[in-house]
Amino acid sequence: MASLTVLLRHSGKWNDEGNYINFSIEGILIKEYASFNDLVGSISNQLGIDLSTNNIKIQYNVEGNRTPMEIHNDMGYRVYVKLKKENKEFGMYPLCITTMEKELISGDGLNQGDIVQIDEAVQMYDSDTDDTLAIELANSGEAIGVFELHKDLIISKTNQKEVMAGQVYKDKAILKEVMKNYAIAQRFQFRVDRSNAVSYALICISEDCDWRFKASSINKSELFKVREFNDNHTCPLKNKVYEQRQASSNIISGIIRTKLTNHKRKYTPRDIIDDVKSDLGVDVSYMLAWRAKEKAMNFLRGEPTDSYKKLPGYLYTMDKTYPGSHIRMEKSSNNEFMYVYISLYAFIRGFDHCRPIVVVDGSHLKSYYTGTFVSASTLDGAAYGVIDSKNDAAWTWFFEQFKIAYGVRENMCIVSNRNESIIKSKFKKSHAKLSEIYFSMAKTYIQTEFDSLMEKVEKVDIRVKEYLELAGYEKWVRLYAPVNRG
Ligand SMILES: [Zn+2]
Repeated sequence: MASLTVLLRHSGKWNDEGNYINFSIEGILIKEYASFNDLVGSISNQLGIDLSTNNIKIQYNVEGNRTPMEIHNDMGYRVYVKLKKENKEFGMYPLCITTMEKELISGDGLNQGDIVQIDEAVQMYDSDTDDTLAIELANSGEAIGVFELHKDLIISKTNQKEVMAGQVYKDKAILKEVMKNYAIAQRFQFRVDRSNAVSYALICISEDCDWRFKASSINKSELFKVREFNDNHTCPLKNKVYEQRQASSNIISGIIRTKLTNHKRKYTPRDIIDDVKSDLGVDVSYMLAWRAKEKAMNFLRGEPTDSYKKLPGYLYTMDKTYPGSHIRMEKSSNNEFMYVYISLYAFIRGFDHCRPIVVVDGSHLKSYYTGTFVSASTLDGAAYGVIDSKNDAAWTWFFEQFKIAYGVRENMCIVSNRNESIIKSKFKKSHAKLSEIYFSMAKTYIQTEFDSLMEKVEKVDIRVKEYLELAGYEKWVRLYAPVNRG
């Protein structure tokens, strides 16, 4: 198809009302069947942005939404192309480009060990941060040399261990968190002397102590700078046994967040107890560790309920992006989520060329809301969804959707360890015997056992044997699995 013309707005900034202002303009052509990376390439090319040292953020406004939409992957690109195709005028849906320097790592000893991350929030000050900081530091009479790297010295992570005068924090919230952790690590308690939008001052909980900490914002921006820090306690408190109640689940949650970002890694409350002990020297109970983990997970993923709220919008976009797909969501009479079913158009089209054999399997979802993730697979994939496995009506619903999406094919064979009566009622042919064999085969580690099971399959239905061979044993048989499925 022909290219679409897209107006670019760049070198501007987003204001609080969600409008991109003070920008310059450019134009590019985009192709319908290109990728997100192609888009990034064209834009940076046209605007002369060096991607080895910069990242770009591509956003556009959608009617009725204050928050701009960001294009950050192929799906986002496809949605945008679809939108542009419906509104082809050059000026419609301009893409607003924000350029961000890639993360720099502090080169001096000020923040040793901790990588200082620059992210978009700091970018808000991009137009004048450098100057502001430089002037600020010049006035305070500090060694400017240290701060020549400006932005890469801004501390934006709460795992910052060293605290000293001159440090600049991304915002007050980060600084507060760092100071809480600092007090735990140093085993003392502080009192807040003053805390407002522009200043944050702490003193030791003991009245006869010289320990002091003062920080304030830089020119009323969100950046907070440590102005004064006397870390010497003249009180005996420092040597007292630390009171554990300070290590609240909130604090621990902040500390362990980074460890939970890898979803593949198992990080149990037990691990948390060990880490808190070694990092902070504090013993915490299992319950406290568990609560901290829940809080951290919620912080990272949002509340589970919020995820379900996003589902209708996600399904809508999916339906628009893959026309001809069969996507359904079932709600209760109270408007609560019940089940979801998804067959993408490509699956449906592909099924006509597949043998009419479908392997159905479910795995339990673990979270606040239990459910079962169901997949129905042909050679190309067929359908997936989430239902309530204990409920026959749910399975019936799933297979009804399957039937609507794929129609009825002669000699359809369903392999499943699920309620046979449901499958029988929807599709004539099924083999309770076969599914038993299938699941033993999938689980076996012994070659001879596998071979003899395969013989049995052949006796029941030769088509299934052929199918399973075609599908590739490595996909479903433990014995052939390239990775350990446990
Ligand atoms: Zn003190």
